[in-house]
Amino acid sequence: MAKQKYDFDLIVLGSGGGGSVAALIAASSGKHVAMVEPDALGGECPNYGCVPTKSLLHAAEIYDAAKRGQQFGIRSGTLTYNYPSLKAWKDLAVERTGSDEGRRLYEAEGIKIIEGLAHFISPHEVTVNRRHYSAENFLIATGSHNFIPPIERLDKTGYITFKEAVNLTRPPKSLFIVGAGAIGCEFAELFSIFGTKVHLADITPRILSREDEEVSELVRDTFEQERGMNVMTNTKVLRVTKEGLAKRVHFQQGHSEKSVKVDEVLITTGKLANVDIGLENAGVDYTPRGISTNEFMQTSARHIYAAGDVVGPYNYTHTAIYQSRLAANNLLHKQKIAADYRAIPRVIFLNPEVASVGLSEDECIKHDMRIRKAVAPIAIIGRANASNVERGFVKVITDNKGILIGASIVSPHAGEVIHELTLAIQMRMSAQDVATTIHAFPTWSEAVRIACSKVARM
Ligand SMILES: Cc1cc2nc3c(=O)[nH]c(=O)nc-3n(C[C@H](O)[C@H](O)[C@H](O)COP(=O)(O)OP(=O)(O)OC[C@H]3O[C@@H](n4cnc5c(N)ncnc54)[C@H](O)[C@@H]3O)c2cc1C
Repeated sequence: MAKQKYDFDLIVLGSGGGGSVAALIAASSGKHVAMVEPDALGGECPNYGCVPTKSLLHAAEIYDAAKRGQQFGIRSGTLTYNYPSLKAWKDLAVERTGSDEGRRLYEAEGIKIIEGLAHFISPHEVTVNRRHYSAENFLIATGSHNFIPPIERLDKTGYITFKEAVNLTRPPKSLFIVGAGAIGCEFAELFSIFGTKVHLADITPRILSREDEEVSELVRDTFEQERGMNVMTNTKVLRVTKEGLAKRVHFQQGHSEKSVKVDEVLITTGKLANVDIGLENAGVDYTPRGISTNEFMQTSARHIYAAGDVVGPYNYTHTAIYQSRLAANNLLHKQKIAADYRAIPRVIFLNPEVASVGLSEDECIKHDMRIRKAVAPIAIIGRANASNVERGFVKVITDNKGILIGASIVSPHAGEVIHELTLAIQMRMSAQDVATTIHAFPTWSEAVRIACSKVARM
């Protein structure tokens, strides 16, 4: 009997969204579960990623709004901030998401927490701190680590990553951010609001290069015009040298080499899957991009599942949780559920917010798809008038039959508004379906109805 052969029914490697959700589902279904974690319980999102950045950005948003209050007749004396207090607020938000609370929850469900790094020594066995643990099934959810590009002298000169950036006790006077994806842009926004002179560089032709071109252009324009940032695309950072207490970043643009002196360098050039865990010993196939799974989250060793950043293709907490749920279902039940990535929402917490779902226009072009698209500028809706917002839009993409397949929104609360289109894409609804749905006046969502009615008329 398999149950007597192994120490556990399931061992989960990693306690982030990708691991913890499946551990809880399996334990509540009566399975004997262990979860291995070398660091803070809960993984990257509550401890180092989503929660610290969003709590700091929330404070930044309030400060920024207060600075702009005068246009609505709101006056204050000297408006200022205290960064150590801001950091204390961030620490409180992190504390409240609660590693300790999490531990109590897991233990109440009978999950054994094993502290340390797990390493496979055979298909059914891992070691943690030299102790061996066996299980009938495994779920690998070991997440990802920073990719640090090969920039000359970077190691010697020093740099920070997101982990240090959320723990600074004051914002740097000047900051060079290498990598203008979602994380780089969120930090650029945060520090520029608190007065840092931000230089934001990316090797690609546009910032937020995974998003539609209109999104990249609008965010770049806002960064340059409203936040006073120096945004540099097609820019390759070559080396970083010391200059007294400061750092000099040398970079190439076209054929010319330039440099800028800054207080600090922040690297946000992407993440690499944590696959150095003895996968060869377990017969689990992987590439440098991550662990390969089938649509049921099963690896090449069928009793071992994987979920989250270590799998991809989207590095978000909600995809990690989704995959973890699928893995748990497929491990526990005969009726398997396949992953469906058609409607994954993506949010970048800027002001205005950026949100998208489904296919981008570039992806449609790459797949040679016949599409229709329409854009509704946010400025035409009543809510924008009442809030004095000029920048932003809703863009929707349909297939040639009018079925919604993609959308991008730049507007206040875009991260909330996107869910209407997420549901529509998930349920294979047409733009006409959304266009004929009554939307409350005056809300940001009205722009969704207008964009959908435009594309439905094509
Ligand atoms: C700055 C920043 C902001 C972010 N903001 C957002 C956001 O707003 N929204 C969003 O959806 N996503 C956001 N993300 C991404 C999100 O944090 C990740 O996608 C998510 O945490 C992935 O969950 P996971 O379970 O796959 O990995 P993780 O949460 O990283 O968990 C993996 C765990 O595995 C452990 N581990 C590693 N090796 C081993 C081993 N050998 N044995 C046992 N355990 C091991 C690690 O210690 C870690 O705790 C952000 C990321 C960053 C960096």
